Amino acid sequence: MSDTPLILWVRRDLRLSDNPMLAQAAKSGRAVVPVFILDPETESLGAAAKWRLGLGLAAFARALEGIGSKLILRRGPALEVLQGLRAELGAGAVHWARLYDAPAKARDTQVKSALRGDGIEAQSHAGHLLYEPWTVQTGQGGYYKVYSAFWRNVKTREVSFPAAAPKTLKAPENWPASDLLDDWQMGRAMDRGAAVVLPHLGVGEGVAQTRLADFLDGPVMRYKDRRDFPAEDATSRLSENLTYGEIGPRSIWHATQRMMHEGSIGAEHFLKELAWREFAYHLLHHSPHITSRNWREEWDSFPWRGDNDDAELWRRGMSGEPFVDAAMREMYVTGTMHNRARMIVASYLTKHLMTDWRVGQRWFEDCLIDWDPASNAMGWQWAAGSGPDATPYFRVFNPETQAKKFDPKALYRHRFIAELASPPGPDARGFFNAVPRSWDLDVPSRYPDRLVELSFGRKRALEAYSVRGTAA
Ligand code: FAD
Repeated sequence: MSDTPLILWVRRDLRLSDNPMLAQAAKSGRAVVPVFILDPETESLGAAAKWRLGLGLAAFARALEGIGSKLILRRGPALEVLQGLRAELGAGAVHWARLYDAPAKARDTQVKSALRGDGIEAQSHAGHLLYEPWTVQTGQGGYYKVYSAFWRNVKTREVSFPAAAPKTLKAPENWPASDLLDDWQMGRAMDRGAAVVLPHLGVGEGVAQTRLADFLDGPVMRYKDRRDFPAEDATSRLSENLTYGEIGPRSIWHATQRMMHEGSIGAEHFLKELAWREFAYHLLHHSPHITSRNWREEWDSFPWRGDNDDAELWRRGMSGEPFVDAAMREMYVTGTMHNRARMIVASYLTKHLMTDWRVGQRWFEDCLIDWDPASNAMGWQWAAGSGPDATPYFRVFNPETQAKKFDPKALYRHRFIAELASPPGPDARGFFNAVPRSWDLDVPSRYPDRLVELSFGRKRALEAYSVRGTAA
């Protein structure tokens, strides 16, 4: 069995270095066949994430070719595809790196038991996270619901060193047939938005490593003080790469640790943020309902509004609230949104507009190129107040005050809102070229009036909160 080919089922691990599954496969001496499967779960990704994944796959296929291998593309239910490929190749093993959302776990468990039932070695590996979620436990053996306690537990833990990229991967005698990536049309739902977002992307392992190096070379020094200012280039922008596994968290951890030893001020703060991603996965693993239901049950009786006309204006960056609209337009133009802005737009939708957090969560899922099931769900429930370690309900972000504090010269608002800038710059105009034609939007002659007076919206939300007596 041990000299039969080994199938690597590639998912969100599009990198050669710091890839435990790949490193082990390279050492095994077996012929290795990497395969990516466009299964129903992947088919259902949001427009931006699916398009970005397609670009990541193309880059990873080129990287594999550089070490004498290939990426085979197949479409269909994962188990069916793997069983078919196994039979074609006479493969004796299928390996993959773990994912942690409930649909992926259910699929992978079924695949594992079916393959083992067929007498095939089926093995999952770590790689997406620093710490497997079940290895971090409270003193009582439970899981953490508060980030600060989670961080205290993990910050001094040993993180194993990332494996180097293999120089070669043994090829099979005959490569199996592969679909063509172009035929999958991963970017179809992006429509004309793709051309606008494309220049803002950083695709592939090489780009991710350069991003990390550039960030640690300068911006990290300002990270602690400036990371909340969306007009500044003060964060790493690595979420795009982390989400497709174009860089591994271990590589980031160790490179940043080295900076800490050299006395970089922002480095520890940066690692603390990286640990928020770990915390999100910890929560997702232990409370999978975080993606779909209020994490705190007492919120089930809160009178959220379902989708509504106000939410539609929010989506279209036409709420008349400049910080909010700039952020929503940023997402349309760049495929990402600054963290401070994500907090503001989420608070505005769930509190000022009293709209269910799931409405916003779905919109982000469709528009973000860095969409991540764990961080998105945690972020929305944090902002709404219904999640673990969430912002208390009575803390309603005031977008105007936030703008004064974090965008004092209005650079961010002017960059993305054409109506407020004269003349409007490329990103402000880009928004109108990116949105669906069906919205029938053109640069309006004047910026829209406020959808809701901030003091009214705040009062309405707090009243609903006090009537329901919802726990914060
Ligand atoms: P940096 O500041 O450079 O941080 C480095 C890394 O740490 C990030 O790449 C990310 O992996 C992690 N990180 C930083 N802040 C957070 C955080 N608050 N929560 C979890 N991880 C964090 N992040 C996503 O990757 N995908 C999402 O779909 C997503 N949705 C969000 C939705 C809402 C409502 C909110 C409030 C936050 C969301 N975040 C999400 C978290 C955060 O906004 C982004 O990770 C961050 O803006 C990415 O920019 P960066 O890579 O420059 O981050």
